[in-house]
Amino acid sequence: MPRQWVNAAIKKIEADFQRSADTHLLKLDIPAFPHIQLYLKDESSHPTGSLKHRLARSLFLYGLCNGWITEGKTIIEASSGSTAVSEAYFARLLGLPFIAVIPKSTSAEKIAKISFYGGRCHLVDDPSQIDAESHRLALETGGHFVDQFTYAERATDWRGNNNIAETLFEQMRHEPYPEPTWLVMSAGTGGTSATLGRHIRYAGMNTQLCVVDPEQSAFFDYYHSRDSSIRTKGACVEGIGRPRPELSFLPDVIDEMLQVPDNATFAAMLLLEELLGRKVGGSTGTNFYGALLKVSAMAKAGQQGSVATLICDQGERYLNTYYNPDWRSAKGIDTAHWLPKLRQFWHQGGDL
Ligand SMILES: *Cc1c(COP(=O)(O)O)cnc(C)c1O
Repeated sequence: MPRQWVNAAIKKIEADFQRSADTHLLKLDIPAFPHIQLYLKDESSHPTGSLKHRLARSLFLYGLCNGWITEGKTIIEASSGSTAVSEAYFARLLGLPFIAVIPKSTSAEKIAKISFYGGRCHLVDDPSQIDAESHRLALETGGHFVDQFTYAERATDWRGNNNIAETLFEQMRHEPYPEPTWLVMSAGTGGTSATLGRHIRYAGMNTQLCVVDPEQSAFFDYYHSRDSSIRTKGACVEGIGRPRPELSFLPDVIDEMLQVPDNATFAAMLLLEELLGRKVGGSTGTNFYGALLKVSAMAKAGQQGSVATLICDQGERYLNTYYNPDWRSAKGIDTAHWLPKLRQFWHQGGDL
């Protein structure tokens, strides 16, 4: 009976969820702005170290309930980053083979992370062929291509089921401003911003959603022009910004989009390390910078309230890149202007 296996698989995922705790909602006091509260939902504390743990769980449940994932299926994903790591974890939980289809240029550290959870990496010469190669492998192996960039927005239950928005608002319930004035989030698949944007409407909130986008991403231009043929070089901040508008990115739930310079992203990442006493990833820097811009705008308008954003992953993944000054200067990234400016804003106030 094939259903027996599927039922047991869903039970395993639910049992894994039951054993897990929710991620922390951190609150940071801003010395210069005592009337504006800043919150960081720490998605780096999931078992696989990033917000993609939530997505991978949703994508597996979606695939199982759609009848796409069955006993012995090979699971295939086009990802060299956090998604592949988290999906390898869930594939192992269910005893399924997992293949990450990744560019040949992918770093050894990332391959090691995917292999750690029992995943196999299939290297592709031409990065633009990753989707086609994933479809081909799925046909060849009789496997299932998960396709995060298409399905992220619909695999997640945006009404409830402990989604990122529901849990964030539940955790804010006893705060002075439980309904944030702004939610700030970057977009990779766009799945998280879709869930946040839908849930604030569903919950009848007045919260505004600001999506921050790195340089060289197609999302920002697409948001304004809705031209789906836009192509860009692709961003250098891992996990966010895409060279093309992805199906999972839903522009209509977003109230404002801001483009963040890479120098500001990495300066904000370094400032947040000072404030938290630990390292966060690059996309968290983009989020944090966006949140500071919203704090600045609220202060200027004489508004009180709260701003919330996400810690997407841990900085330990980027010791040889973002946290290495030689890597940054080789990439032309210079935080010398931004870091003192952001530090001053945080401690003394003024404008951003
Ligand atoms: C995927 C990812 C994001 C963006 O989240 P989406 O829900 O895919 O838009 C941000 N940061 C990191 C590190 C990611 O891996």
